[in-house]
Amino acid sequence: MPLKPRDLIRSEVFAIKAYHVAESEGMVKLDAMENPYALPGPLREELARELARVEMNRYPEPTGKKLRELIARKMKVPAGMEVLLGNGSDDLIQIVSLALARPGATMMYPTPTFVMYGMNAGLTGMKAVALPLREDFALDVAAFVARMREERPALVFLAYPNNPTGVLYREEDVVAILNAAEGLVVLDEAYHVFAQKSFMPRLAEFPNLIVMRTVSKLGLAGIRLGYMAGRPEWIAEFNKVRQAYNVNVLTQAAAEFVLDRLEVLEDQARRILAERVILGEALAALPGVKVFPSEANFFLVRVPDANRSHEGLRRQGVLVRNFHGVHPLLANCLRITVGTDAENRILLAALRESL
Ligand code: PMP
Repeated sequence: MPLKPRDLIRSEVFAIKAYHVAESEGMVKLDAMENPYALPGPLREELARELARVEMNRYPEPTGKKLRELIARKMKVPAGMEVLLGNGSDDLIQIVSLALARPGATMMYPTPTFVMYGMNAGLTGMKAVALPLREDFALDVAAFVARMREERPALVFLAYPNNPTGVLYREEDVVAILNAAEGLVVLDEAYHVFAQKSFMPRLAEFPNLIVMRTVSKLGLAGIRLGYMAGRPEWIAEFNKVRQAYNVNVLTQAAAEFVLDRLEVLEDQARRILAERVILGEALAALPGVKVFPSEANFFLVRVPDANRSHEGLRRQGVLVRNFHGVHPLLANCLRITVGTDAENRILLAALRESL
């Protein structure tokens, strides 16, 4: 008699839920912090010609050397630091977790935060210690550091700014955590283009700091590319855990083309920031809606009944993320990505209807 999956699959795998992605065909898609703007037409055509030259019969250059050098230059990675590429930063989160998951090792992070950290703790058999944020989603740094002293985590994840709250922790609080850490601290700067704050320039000060980023929120979510920067002795180990060809030739070519013209994406980010101001004020003006301040390209809002509003929005063709029931601090919270002016107007009208 063959055994069943539940008898064979590791209990950690059985215990976690698959990463949830909602059906979005034909919807106003404000659920995943994507950049709503496409590349300008002429640039798209030039990129298409570039991609047509890619030799898809060949394996990629294994470490993406050209792209790593371009990223180091464009993203101002300090001299002496190394860059590692990932198939999205999700891939990098997994690589770091796998590498540090010695028996009994602990991963620590404030919560609520990006679910992928906890998922990878589960997958790799690390003990996950999730310390609640304050009610306003600020970091209780004293409590966090005290818990670090007890738990001695091998790995700390801090999303800077945090998802789904949009809060950018105070720089001195991050420094306090870096100074208290015996283990590795991964600062996940997925939203850095919107926050305009980064520890990249300070990498050399902290031997156990890795700065992780993604091009997803910048406007290239579809190509799946993340990168992290840190000391060569860390990157060399993570490079062993990375799958040999984790960043494909089309992604490398597209990223080289677009990041060489980074100002186009930075321009779009500025438009998103301008829309964020307008959307934030309009959301706050809706009756019963509390808007949490955000340094990212989304807002967390608290509404009277998140399930009702989420469903009402969905029926009107607008997709946002419902966090009600996910974490006690997120009761009746929705996360709304900043879209184009037109999308934001549709959202506001639909939300008004469904409060
Ligand atoms: N880190 C944070 C904080 C995120 O919010 C996300 C995306 N939701 C990621 C990492 C993953 O990004 P990527 O698309 O590069 O896998």
